[in-house]
Amino acid sequence: MGWLTRLFPALAREPAAIPDDLWQSTLGQLPFLDRLDGNERSRLKGLCEQLLARKPLSGAGGFEVSDGIAVLIAAQASLLVLHLDLSLYDDLSAVIVFPDAFEVRQRHVDEAGVVHEWDEELAGEAVEQGGAVALSWFDVALQQEPGATHNIVIHEFAHKIDMGRGAANGCPPFLKGLHDPDELHDWPQVFSTAYDDFCERIDRLEDALPPDFDDDHPRHARLYDALAADLPLDPYASRDPAEFFAVASEAFFVAPQPLAAAYPAVYRKLAAYYRQDPLAMA
Ligand SMILES: [Zn+2]
Repeated sequence: MGWLTRLFPALAREPAAIPDDLWQSTLGQLPFLDRLDGNERSRLKGLCEQLLARKPLSGAGGFEVSDGIAVLIAAQASLLVLHLDLSLYDDLSAVIVFPDAFEVRQRHVDEAGVVHEWDEELAGEAVEQGGAVALSWFDVALQQEPGATHNIVIHEFAHKIDMGRGAANGCPPFLKGLHDPDELHDWPQVFSTAYDDFCERIDRLEDALPPDFDDDHPRHARLYDALAADLPLDPYASRDPAEFFAVASEAFFVAPQPLAAAYPAVYRKLAAYYRQDPLAMA
């Protein structure tokens, strides 16, 4: 990290200006930022500089984070709080970038009190209670391709916002003076109605799969992908309400049309929450 380590020595974390050529090349890699006007772009740059000054961003598993990678990640994380406040990331301790998907030990206690533990390969993870965001660079880079509808950086930072006041539950903290309580008071109802509907769509998708469905089988995998292509969100959104919020946030910023068409009330709540409207024509 040449420029960052030069400009952000460990003990003097004053925000430093991102060089203009680096900023322009970052914007060029993130087509979903094209909608931002000049003021928003300079605000985003300022947030990015503050975020990089406040939070350590480092590589793991032998991965070296270049200045370009650091700014690319920080720009996407800053997009969520562009019209909010960086205090939403107070709970974030660090950003850790792995070269590829990484294994995380998962633990779940079922209704009978039985503890299940397994290793899961993840492209990203947000750890609550002052934890870090971990990202797989392979997946971050893949999702910069034109036409990409997923964004692991936005996904994990949406979780981090959701974790701002306790465990992630799909209802992020509202900020005094920035959020209108009248506009957001019915958030839980709007999101749970959409979540229930989405889970029903997943049930119907699963009913259409053969009884011997095996996602390692190429023909089965193609059938699943074809059925999932008709969904307004990635199937992962059905996992729980916190994932629904994170996946909906990704869609909101990167590919909002299917979300707005299927769940217009969710789109409007996200627009009110993030105080941005990606579908509005400039
Ligand atoms: Zn998630």
